Amino acid sequence: MLRLNGKGASPGVAVGRIKFISHTMEFLEKRLIDDPQSEIGRFEAARALAAVELGELAVSTAAKLGKESSLLFEIHAMMLDDLDYREAVITRIKGSKFSAEYAVSETAIEFAKDFSDMDVKYMQTRAADVLDVSRRVIDILIGKKRESEVQSEPVILASQDFAPSETAQFERDRTLALITIGGSTNSHTAIFARTMAIPAVIGLGESLDEKCDGQMCVVDGSSGLVILDPDEQTLNETQERLRKQKELIEELEKFRGLPATTKSGKTIKIFANIGNVKDAHLAVKNDAEGIGLFRSEFLYLEKTDYPDEETQLAAYKSVAEILGGRQVIIRTLDIGADKQAAYFKLPSEENPALGLRALRICLKNPEVFKTQLRAIYRASAFGQVAIMLPMVASPWEVIRAKEIASEVKKDLDQSQIAYDPKVPIGIMVETPAAAIISDLLAKEVDFFSIGTNDLTQYTLAVDRQNSSLDDFCDTHHEAILRLIGQTVNNAHANGIWCGICGELGADPRLAETFIEMGVDELSVTPPAILPLKKRVRELS
Ligand code: PEP
Ligand code: MG
Repeated sequence: MLRLNGKGASPGVAVGRIKFISHTMEFLEKRLIDDPQSEIGRFEAARALAAVELGELAVSTAAKLGKESSLLFEIHAMMLDDLDYREAVITRIKGSKFSAEYAVSETAIEFAKDFSDMDVKYMQTRAADVLDVSRRVIDILIGKKRESEVQSEPVILASQDFAPSETAQFERDRTLALITIGGSTNSHTAIFARTMAIPAVIGLGESLDEKCDGQMCVVDGSSGLVILDPDEQTLNETQERLRKQKELIEELEKFRGLPATTKSGKTIKIFANIGNVKDAHLAVKNDAEGIGLFRSEFLYLEKTDYPDEETQLAAYKSVAEILGGRQVIIRTLDIGADKQAAYFKLPSEENPALGLRALRICLKNPEVFKTQLRAIYRASAFGQVAIMLPMVASPWEVIRAKEIASEVKKDLDQSQIAYDPKVPIGIMVETPAAAIISDLLAKEVDFFSIGTNDLTQYTLAVDRQNSSLDDFCDTHHEAILRLIGQTVNNAHANGIWCGICGELGADPRLAETFIEMGVDELSVTPPAILPLKKRVRELS
């Protein structure tokens, strides 16, 4: 029995055998050939087959998870078609007489390094993609079935980290848990696991490796503990915990459809945070009363150029329709800091979290902002839509944003395009400045939603991306709670409502405090909705 400690990235307990997904190229042997022409032919044939596979995956993923999730496969197909990439492989085959698979692996490693070295986060994430699509070509060349495509038994999936295209293919019913050697709690794997309610532990280090494949394993996604080769007593204890976990999930069903009302009669709305259309289905499945935060920036992050009005309209309209009349609060573009898209050509900054981001970008680029606002207003004809502005610090920013919104509405009127003229405009309170002058800001907007993730980072001066500062990141800090209380009071004094859409909203230990403060709405990840509802209904 071996105990490994990592970071709990998604709660829940699981027990099962490990399926270690090794990424082939890291273990590929150098093989030399003597017929470059036929080797180039092998490469081109494998590339063509990979393109067919990617096309099929795009179609099946779009059907299963929505169009946005399938875009990744389109990016992979584009990479395979890239002239520089093809030439780099062919040069290695011709010049160095490398086998096709070895030439692909060397090219992938070189391209991935180039991507990783770039300043822009969006380009850095492309490193994982070029490795992933190259692995696909290599697997075809060496006749290996992709692990995620042959996953038949429920297993605990392990790897260095998972590429986004891999997680998109995982079947929820066959994935007991995810464990990784590297990764951070903000990584794609962690977010995917939390949204899909799959227990996950990340950052286990090198003690987890290929030799663990097939071993029995216990995963505790809350504490971050992973036990390899558990003894009988541990297995029995885990079975007991699994039984309780199952009971809890069944018990949660009792709360479906009921309002989150305490025993003394106070009601709080429970909404969902989403990042794409697929999440909207999950929100409905998990009994969300509405969408409290649609992180629209994912529409921008998945693209290589600004998404046009029609693309955005399609996404916002779909979410509004899926929610069938329930409110959908669309946060305008929150690019910058940790969320970078190369085509924005943002300057590199000493302190990006304090830099050009979110609403600041929109106010400096009104045309980009207007395209998004037009799409949101047009979507308002199909459901109950609201607009939320991120990273506000001063009233003038809100006043200017509202002026731009009025211009957009005037344009729509002139073109006789349908929209709801009463779309509410609210702000995220996520800077200490906004919380402190919330009495002034409340006079300008229809609602507040407190973004505790950024509010904590800016109030405690703790970089949210820096995991070595975990000890200093006290999310229950009195300063944060006072700012929340003050913001709620100022909202109510001015006749508007106030919610919380940061991670703290899902913390069951604070549900009572938030209700006592008078918070009107909590917006949380879809799997956190029913547990929170249970917690609220048990409060007296
Ligand atoms: C927040 O800052 O609390 C928030 C919800 O926004 P994000 O996490 O997307 O910055
Ligand atoms: Mg934020």
